[in-house]
Amino acid sequence: MLANICTGAIKGIEGFAVSVEVDIAPGMPTLAVVGLPDAEVKESKDRVIAAIRNSGFDFPLKRITVNLSPAELRKSGTHFDLPIALGILAASEQLSPSAVGKIKDLLVMGEVALDGSLRPCAGVLPMLISCQKLGKTAVIPPANVLEGHVSGSPFISPHTLKELADYLEEKISLENVTVSYLPPEEEEIASELDFSDVKGQALAKRALEIAAAGGHNVLMIGLPGTGKSMLAKRFASILPPLTQEEALEITKIYSICNLLGKSKLFTRRPFRDPHHTISDVALIGGGTTPRPGEVSLAHNGVLFLDEFAEFSRSSLEVLREPLENGQVTISRAKETVSYPARFTLLAAMNPCPCGNLGNPLKPCTCTPMQVNRYKSRISGPLLDRIDLTVTLNPVKYTDWNKPSEGETSAQIRERVLKARAIQKERFAHSSTTANAFMTPKEIKTFCPLPPEADTVLEAAMRKFGLSARSLDKILKTARTIADLDGAKNIETKHLIEVMQYRPLDRKGVADL
Ligand SMILES: [Zn+2]
Repeated sequence: MLANICTGAIKGIEGFAVSVEVDIAPGMPTLAVVGLPDAEVKESKDRVIAAIRNSGFDFPLKRITVNLSPAELRKSGTHFDLPIALGILAASEQLSPSAVGKIKDLLVMGEVALDGSLRPCAGVLPMLISCQKLGKTAVIPPANVLEGHVSGSPFISPHTLKELADYLEEKISLENVTVSYLPPEEEEIASELDFSDVKGQALAKRALEIAAAGGHNVLMIGLPGTGKSMLAKRFASILPPLTQEEALEITKIYSICNLLGKSKLFTRRPFRDPHHTISDVALIGGGTTPRPGEVSLAHNGVLFLDEFAEFSRSSLEVLREPLENGQVTISRAKETVSYPARFTLLAAMNPCPCGNLGNPLKPCTCTPMQVNRYKSRISGPLLDRIDLTVTLNPVKYTDWNKPSEGETSAQIRERVLKARAIQKERFAHSSTTANAFMTPKEIKTFCPLPPEADTVLEAAMRKFGLSARSLDKILKTARTIADLDGAKNIETKHLIEVMQYRPLDRKGVADL
């Protein structure tokens, strides 16, 4: 007999519906899975056999063929266990006809343990969202219930394969849940890490405020202990709140990576700080079964790369694509997968390998050649994608000892939100979301310079030999500073402020 169960699969961060056809015919006892399953799906056979036996059913000793269609798309994940097991029960007539009749209204996903209990699986949220149009009730493992809530789809979550069978036979009832996701309350977003914890470093704080307001990337250079990571960790506290669409995008990515765990849904922008020994695949995504990397886990949030110059050259090079396009494309033999990766890059590095160059108290033990080699590890094209560079100096005792605290994150965030509101209006008819992502045409439209400012920029261009890309960066950043200032047009003072954060244009990396 033939049974047909509906489930889902993932491509990139989107799901698609998959039909699991199970045919049982007389012949040598075998279980074959066809229809482009990857190694993960093939492994499900042994779990399914044990789960069926341990749930009080018989495993049919016949020729069983499982076909996953559409056949041309690769299927990966452990969630095929449950639809395959259910299909075998239906095709072997171990379920009553009325129970089998109900299966067509279900969208089934879940990994099964050997004892038949349902275990969490990856990618439930994107599959639920993409399959919503089918109008089916989802069957998901209890550990994935949170994703059911977020999707807004109706679902049930049995604990075991037996419980699902009993539900279909109307021996037990399972609660049918539908709860839509509500955007987070403002109070929940308040962070325990606050900008007022960081003493001094006014210039760096201002650079981060500009970055938050316009979506710009920042490089912080400073001696160890000057507060680079303290500042980076507080950066998320001055970012605008997530829109519902952004929150869903991030939650989907974490769902695919099985990283949602028991934590609440994304109410905050993600902050990722991978170690400099990270592999290219872990940073950018990929692998035999493609998975999003750190750049995608930082999507709509912050990627903090401490010890920037210690990252391998290839790691730094692969960063160029997401920095340029806001996404990562991974090509494999038969398919190409894209993951979103639009993040704000915060990079931090010491001034030299020993970390003491410029320290008045400790001598630097590096040779000039070592210092040069260290700095040149960050290539020109990568530096081109950094809008603001700021040097942090050791904190002065008077700053550290100040009785009054600096500005709080809430105060800075208020200005950031105002500047963001201006940009929202500016880009109402465009796909651009912030000044940092303006197209050349938008730069022309939104960054006209008054004659005086034009002269200043032209002089700077002549003196420092600025590239066209640098000029664009300067204008985009100046636009953000003008927005923070509430100014309609970029003024000379805004341009001059930007130049403070462009030491690389003036000196080149080796002379920093
Ligand atoms: Zn040194």
